[in-house]
Amino acid sequence: MVPRKFEYFAPTSLKDATSLLKKHGSDAKVLAGGMSLIPVMKLRLGSPAYIVDINRIPGLDYIKVAGKSVSIGALTRHHTIETSKLVRDKLGILAETAGWIGDPQVRNMGTIGGSLSHCDPSGDWGAAILAVRGSVRVKGPSKERVLEIDDFLVDTFTSALKDDEILTEVSVPLPPPRSGGAYVKLERRSGDFATAAVAVQVSLDAKGVCSYAGIGLTALGSKNLRASKAEAALLGNPLTAKAIEEAAEAAAEDAQPTPDPLRGSAEYKTEMARVYTKRGIELAVQRAKKVK
Ligand SMILES: Cc1cc2nc3c(=O)[nH]c(=O)nc-3n(C[C@H](O)[C@H](O)[C@H](O)COP(=O)(O)OP(=O)(O)OC[C@H]3O[C@@H](n4cnc5c(N)ncnc54)[C@H](O)[C@@H]3O)c2cc1C
Repeated sequence: MVPRKFEYFAPTSLKDATSLLKKHGSDAKVLAGGMSLIPVMKLRLGSPAYIVDINRIPGLDYIKVAGKSVSIGALTRHHTIETSKLVRDKLGILAETAGWIGDPQVRNMGTIGGSLSHCDPSGDWGAAILAVRGSVRVKGPSKERVLEIDDFLVDTFTSALKDDEILTEVSVPLPPPRSGGAYVKLERRSGDFATAAVAVQVSLDAKGVCSYAGIGLTALGSKNLRASKAEAALLGNPLTAKAIEEAAEAAAEDAQPTPDPLRGSAEYKTEMARVYTKRGIELAVQRAKKVK
């Protein structure tokens, strides 16, 4: 199918882009990598009358250390994050997550900002950014806001963005020494969206006690979910096999899957939440022990 007719704008500044969004309100949509928006338009699940392409706006594609955080511009492609030495060295979980997304074509075009804004409960980025407790910067015509990721992800295909706002940056705190992360994903075949996936980031103190735990779930609820009970089961405890098992059981309680005719029943997904959380924590702990 082909999309309905639309008017196309390619502004070269954020100011112009947000003015266009303000003028056209809910009839307008931002275009980033187009990996979700174009299929939506072609299938006519959505037919925006105005497209505001942000790819010609300079300064939205970067990865840098800023103070105690790593900042990633919204237009940074999945592939750039997957292959960034800075990300691999400082926040390996993000490189690993990027590597799981779709196929090479999708990773070359799709952006972290587009993926988070799209708010697909099966999207991989939301869970990873929950695990590392990241935040997002969004810009409207007159003001800028910074939102914690928990507040940004509202519901299925619904973020906290207003019609005239653009997500400009994702920011993630730099983890302390003895930190590690993992993104583990179950998919029907290579390149598919998750049947279930789990993002885990942990930090250990000098005695091996868990001083930070972040766990995000993919395709296990109406949006990417924080596995709060599982996090609480780890925090303040030595990460023994028993503690990890208990956290995995808790993650199965945190999960709120609905039956999915393509990818499995709610019962199956709940069990996968348990299994993949266990695997994710084990891998994250192994990696944390290697980082001095
Ligand atoms: C075959 C295929 C397989 C895929 N597999 C996976 C997968 O395994 N895992 C996964 O996570 N994703 C997968 N995706 C989706 C992919 O990751 C998309 O890149 C991502 O969901 C959207 O990013 P984008 O830059 O392409 O955004 P677009 O498609 O351009 O936009 C998506 C939505 O976000 C809005 N938007 C985009 N950027 C901004 C911004 N900066 N500020 C405000 N609003 C914005 C748009 O208006 C639109 O509503 C797949 C896609 C395809 C086509």
